[in-house]
Amino acid sequence: MVESHHSDGLFACRQCHTKTTNIFICEDCRLLRIPLPEHNYFSAFQIVIKFSPDKKLLEDKYEDLLELIHPDLFISQDETHQSASLNYSAILQEAKETLINDMRCGLHILEIYKKRPTKENLQPSVKFLTEMLVFQEELLENSDQDGFKIEINDLYNKKHTKLSTLFGKFLENPNSNQEEVLSALYSELGQFKFISNLYQQSR
Ligand SMILES: [Zn+2]
Repeated sequence: MVESHHSDGLFACRQCHTKTTNIFICEDCRLLRIPLPEHNYFSAFQIVIKFSPDKKLLEDKYEDLLELIHPDLFISQDETHQSASLNYSAILQEAKETLINDMRCGLHILEIYKKRPTKENLQPSVKFLTEMLVFQEELLENSDQDGFKIEINDLYNKKHTKLSTLFGKFLENPNSNQEEVLSALYSELGQFKFISNLYQQSR
């Protein structure tokens, strides 16, 4: 049986009728719930959809939620509950790993609104790639590792800020036709992916 779902994000427990936003379990009577198709990794964490949510907040929420749905707690219950709690723990883990990774988080947001980019959408322009090559070469020539780290870090932060702004704009009206914002988002995400790789390598 699927639970009644309310547009305010609350749903009522079919057993005790308590309303909460927890998509996995009723915190009052501990009945496991059935997540609905419109649920996503943000609703799993009961947070608003946002690019790059606070990582400490995600870790804390993850611990809290896992404490409620941990498979060990359902060992004495029927098979439905046992397998549901296993599934939910896996979903929760996947949700955390997705939202903590900025690139995956960005793609997840676009996916929620059925705006996921293609591989071609994310392909950085030749101009950008050339700029990056020149940038890398200059830094390598100077063989200044610390300088390289600082520059990459700086570039990474700039791109991150730009993406936050663009996602903010997109999320103001995600279902409308925002072709300009979307194409800027795709292009920035493609560049961000490239710079993220350099950033990881430099650490
Ligand atoms: Zn309940």
